[in-house]
Amino acid sequence: MTHRYCPDCGAPCVEKVPEDDHKLRSVCTGCNAIHYVNPKVVVGCIVEAGDQLLLAKRNIEPALGRWTFPAGYLECLESCAEGAARETVEETEAKVEPLGLFAMLDIPHISQIYAVYRARLVGDHFAATPESSEVQLMGMDEIPWKDLAFPSVATSLRLYAEDRKSDSFRTHTGIVEWNGEGSRFDLEQYRLRDHLAR
Ligand SMILES: [Zn+2]
Repeated sequence: MTHRYCPDCGAPCVEKVPEDDHKLRSVCTGCNAIHYVNPKVVVGCIVEAGDQLLLAKRNIEPALGRWTFPAGYLECLESCAEGAARETVEETEAKVEPLGLFAMLDIPHISQIYAVYRARLVGDHFAATPESSEVQLMGMDEIPWKDLAFPSVATSLRLYAEDRKSDSFRTHTGIVEWNGEGSRFDLEQYRLRDHLAR
């Protein structure tokens, strides 16, 4: 059940398949509004500063204490690139110039889409924030692969490392999928299905 009460009129909702639809929806018993629930978009930046990347240690759950590039939920009324730059300021105080889309990853099992941009650090300021206990520039050989926050982050950085090695950055799409074995919290149990790069 996605909505117990109608956000429009406050009456109870029931779960049913509306006429001419094919999925269960929360439908208001008062005003008949159908409350659709759609995937969330996460936007983030792989921030480059010379040979280094800007990574942040999460100071909030989930994945408290694990490392990520700056990323968070897209807000209404902003573009993906704007949201990625905003999240970077909020999590690291770093100003960036987005350099274009690097990866768009589907994560259907948690109904999320990740839009990851390459970006360039503008100036040299960054700092810890309420959301990040540490913020650091790291060389590619310093990336804490075993301590990354999410499969989507690990997948993006792995693709980035490959492209960087061949010095040709592409735009990647694919589906981040648990392989059905071991723990869902183990980043090594994920694969990228239907990967395309161009
Ligand atoms: Zn209603």
